[in-house]
This record gives sequence, structure tokens and C-alpha cells, in this order.
Amino acid sequence: MIRTIQLVLLTILLPSILVFGQANTPNAPATPPIATQRAPAFDVNAAVEAYLAKMPTERRAQSNAYFEGGYWLLLWDFVYTVIVMLLLLRMRWSAKMRDLAERLTRFRPLQTAIYWVLFIVIVSVLSFPLSLYEGYLREHKYGLLNQGFGPWMRDQLISLGVAVVLGAILMVPLFGLVRKLGKRWWVWGAVLMVVFAAFVSLVAPVYIFPLFNKYTTLKDASIKDPILSMARANGIPANDVYEFDASRQSNRVSANVSGFAGTQRISLNDNLLKRCTLPEIETTMGHEMGHYVLNHAYKGLVMFGVVIVIGFAFLNWGINYGLAHWGEQWGVRGITDVAVLPWAVIVFSLYMLLVTPVTNSISRTMEYEADLFGLNAAGQPDGEANVDMLLGEYRKLDPGPIEEFVFYDHPSGRTRITAAMRWKAEHPQSANEDEVKRPLFETK
Ligand SMILES: [Zn+2]
Repeated sequence: MIRTIQLVLLTILLPSILVFGQANTPNAPATPPIATQRAPAFDVNAAVEAYLAKMPTERRAQSNAYFEGGYWLLLWDFVYTVIVMLLLLRMRWSAKMRDLAERLTRFRPLQTAIYWVLFIVIVSVLSFPLSLYEGYLREHKYGLLNQGFGPWMRDQLISLGVAVVLGAILMVPLFGLVRKLGKRWWVWGAVLMVVFAAFVSLVAPVYIFPLFNKYTTLKDASIKDPILSMARANGIPANDVYEFDASRQSNRVSANVSGFAGTQRISLNDNLLKRCTLPEIETTMGHEMGHYVLNHAYKGLVMFGVVIVIGFAFLNWGINYGLAHWGEQWGVRGITDVAVLPWAVIVFSLYMLLVTPVTNSISRTMEYEADLFGLNAAGQPDGEANVDMLLGEYRKLDPGPIEEFVFYDHPSGRTRITAAMRWKAEHPQSANEDEVKRPLFETK
């Protein structure tokens, strides 16, 4: 079948290809081959290799080990979640938390909220060993965390507080929908999830991020002015650029666009300011402006919505399957019973694990678009390549193509540097020798 279609396409296209070829033939001698039109020959692949070689071998091995370990953590996180949730169900702790909530109040939305608070606190305590390993011990082992235990624990407790509040804001209307709509809850549930995601994006830069880091407007005119000039050139109505003290947590170089509608803003972290040159900061800001101009926040939400609708259909099926088999044993009365939550978490976590390549590819594609936008906006391909190398401290630089497709939510260092050098080859005047020569990693 597919072969037939290919054949048909080929027969339709072939004449036009031939005509195109013939039409050009008489002019051929007058037009020199493309390669000779470029003044200095620039070897893209050699330039990419030269950048990749800036990271010492042992540093590269460490970064690879850190990032590849992350693949396994996806799996261990899932397994650990399943164990904790099954514990809550089989020991009937979930049913007991629901009973307690019902004893405390007759008001159903409040029962859901009380259950949620009990649930998230108990789950956080049970998951603490894994969180400690993943977020603290392992990060220290690779030299990626600047925090001692006290400040780290403080951040964990704040995260828990945020989860208590935001989770309640989501769970109360979600279970309300399930009670009201019965079997058809999942369509509107997905819509609710998208609205919730937009709401979180809207409030996060103003109310959530400042709980973890201090945000100030960037004062240094030598950096602020070129950034704002680039913003104006690209139609971004910005008067301020935000800076935050990410060095509280780590030395990672990073910047981001956050917020939604009226709260959208571009922020860069103090590590970027401390460790990078102006061309490197400019290309990073160009990337972030790309997210803004290309409306990635809104497009991401639409694509996320599609993933969620399918996920909620699967969730609905999975919940009913689980309840039919083990509902009685767990003391869960039905899909409208909030005590079903641990099982819902298992089913949905399985779905999210399976669609990891899809969600990563959605993100990675937009990141690549932002890279190209940044190259065009800032015109600093060498600065871009250096920043890509610095990101290589915590993201494996040179994965295989399938590995990149499955596990990468941003393009790999090699992909990004190749795009930058390809851009440089077409814009020879953009070459920046200082950036080419700049050493990025001190040898220990
Ligand atoms: Zn980005």
C-alpha cells in the first residue's frame, strides 16, 4: 500500500524535478558552484569538534555518568512511587485518611482538601530517602549543589508547602468534576488541568519562585542595555530584565522565560552573569526571547493539553480496572472516593513514564527553535557554542540519536553547537576569535 503511494508520488513529482533541472542547465557554466562562493572555507564539523574538545576528558566522563544516571532515576522514581502508593492502598491508610476527613467535616470539598494534605505529607515522608539521595547526596557527589543540608531542607519544606496549597487547588475541583460528571469526567478533567497549568504559570514568577530565590532587576547597564536593545528589535515590550541568585543552590548557568499573559518575564541567573562573557549572555537572552516571540508558553500548553486528554482517558480506564479488581480490598468505594488517589497516581505515573519521549520531544523541538531564534537575534554563534559547552556540565554533550530522542528535553550540546557553527559558516563576519579561544573549564 505505502509502496504504491510512493510510486504514484514519484511519477507525479519526477517531471517537475526534471523540468527544474533542465531549466537551470543553460546557466550552469555562468554560476560558480556554491562552495566557491563562500570566501573562507569554514569546516563546520571541525569547529564543532574543537568546541567539544574544550571539556577535559575526565570532566566529560563525569557529566556523562551524571546524566545517564538520570535515565535510571526515571525508572527508580516510578518503582518507588508504585511501592509507596501500594502501601497506602493495601494497608488501608488511604481509606483511613478518608474516614478521618469525613469525621472532621461533612462538607465534601473540604474533605477532599483534608485528605490531600494528609496524603501529600505522608507521601513526602515516605519518599524522603529517595529525595535525599536524588536531590542532595547525588548532587553533592557530582559537585552540582552549593547548599548545605539546612538550606536544602528548608527548600524541601517550602516545596511541600507549595504542593499542599497548589494540590488542594487542583484536587478539590477535580474530584468535584468526577462526582458531577461520572464517566465523562476525564474530558473536562483534562480541560481543568490545562487551566490549572496556565494558572500555575501565571502566579509562579510572582508568588512561587521568590520563595526559593531572590529576584532583582538587572542594574548593570553594560549588560542590560544590549539585552533591552535586542528585546526592542524583536518587538518585546520589556523595560526590565530579572536576575536571580541561583548560586544559592548551584553553579549551573541558566536563564528562563516564565509566567503567563501579564506575568511573562525573562530572567537570567547570577551564575550566567558571573561566568559568561557578553556575547554568551546575549545569545542566551536571544534564545529566551525566542521562547517569548514564538509563543512557546501557549503552544506548549496546547500540546500539553493533547497529552493530558489522552492521559486522562487512560487514567479513567485504569482507575475503573483497578477498582473492579481490588477496590474492596483497599476499602475504596469508587471513582468518586478521594481514597482512590494513590491508585490514580500509579496509573498516571505509568502513562507519563511511557510518554517521556513524546513530552521530551515537544520540549526539545521548541528549545531548538529558540536556539535558531537566538542565533539570528544575537548573531553570536561562538558565544552560543561556549554556553552550550557550559550546559554540558550537567547534560551529556554527545548522545546517540535515539538517546537524544528519548531522554533529552533540550537538544544535546553537539546538536546545538552544530546549529551554531552551521549558522557561523553562513555568516563569516560573525566569527569571534576571543570566544573561540576562551578556555571554559579550569583543569583541577
Ligand atoms: Zn529554552
